Amino acid sequence: MYATLLRDSTFHEFLLACDRDLAAQARRRGCRRCRGTVHSGHYRRKPRGRLCRLGPEHDWRFSLCCARHGCRTRKTPASLRFLGPKVYLAATIILIAVMHEGGTDRMRRLKELVGVDRRSLERWRRWWREVFTAMPFWQIARASFMPPVDETRLPGALLERFAANSLTERLVALLRFLAPLTGGQVQAL
Ligand SMILES: [Zn+2]
Repeated sequence: MYATLLRDSTFHEFLLACDRDLAAQARRRGCRRCRGTVHSGHYRRKPRGRLCRLGPEHDWRFSLCCARHGCRTRKTPASLRFLGPKVYLAATIILIAVMHEGGTDRMRRLKELVGVDRRSLERWRRWWREVFTAMPFWQIARASFMPPVDETRLPGALLERFAANSLTERLVALLRFLAPLTGGQVQAL
């Protein structure tokens, strides 16, 4: 089921459309330092963790740059595809981590399909448990969950909290929730 989602081009197209909206919103707000006009300063990423062929537009991280001489401040809008500087797609990182909890054969298959090694997995686990839980974003956001989210079971425990009809909807809800963290400021591990 999880592998199916990562193989579904419609799902990836939807995330790309969301990112375009987020970039358009950020563009309308202008430069965060001088309020000036911003231009596109998109850059190419080499995302891993997709299980289908997609056009080159899917590899661009939307980014903006102030047009004013002497300012040139870069602004990277939030994203539902890229979790900061991480190489793997946010959706893949979440799904693999969730399945890791189960430790099933299906999990092993997905791990092989995506091509993620044990060290990356261990790094992601530490990121969820240590880096994410220490972020001011989570320190504030976690108060809105009642009963509290079990932090030893992240991100699965968080994914379960988004009521939706399908895994796709729940995952998108979680990606939207995490979007404020993705503006190029996520600490890498
Ligand atoms: Zn500026």
